[in-house]
Amino acid sequence: MQRLHAKIRDIPDFPKPGIIFKDVTPLVKDPAALRLSVHQLLHPFLGREITAIAGMEARGFIFGSLVAWELGLPFVPLRKPGKLPYDVQSVSYDLEYGSAMLEIHIDSLDSGDRVLLIDDLLATGGTAKASCELIEKLGAKVEAIAFVIELDALGGRDKLHGYEVHSLLHY
Ligand code: IMP
Repeated sequence: MQRLHAKIRDIPDFPKPGIIFKDVTPLVKDPAALRLSVHQLLHPFLGREITAIAGMEARGFIFGSLVAWELGLPFVPLRKPGKLPYDVQSVSYDLEYGSAMLEIHIDSLDSGDRVLLIDDLLATGGTAKASCELIEKLGAKVEAIAFVIELDALGGRDKLHGYEVHSLLHY
């Protein structure tokens, strides 16, 4: 994991003053680190009954689609509003200031699906919680949620109480 930690770059005051943004682009730029992170993300789920991988826009697409590729499973994108061209289910959720929305194509999952949800980073948990709601609105089950990074102090794991949560790196 030290190898992955070394590939996470801190960007102070991004996107606004006082926030230290964890930048994963050095990790995805390094093929060995990217491969290691994808294998570590999927490792707990080998042999488990998972039928689809879902990932949140935008960095969840990078890790989620690679996990889907490795496991030979479908990838389902959860997108910001107005991006998906077909009929959607939507969910809105609170941010520190204001609110945000995520959408999913209504035919992307079925009631029998058992979904592994993937994103780059768990902060307050609002995005992941909303993503679980979307998946469940389609009748599918969230089997587990996996992150590359978890910011422990922000309590996102508590917001995801009742879900199985895995993170590779803790800060
Ligand atoms: P949450 O909803 O507060 O848990 O925020 C998590 C979402 O915001 C994820 O989709 C992340 O990609 C993004 N995010 C928040 N902070 C960071 C960061 O420091 N680095 C990268 N992504 C972040």
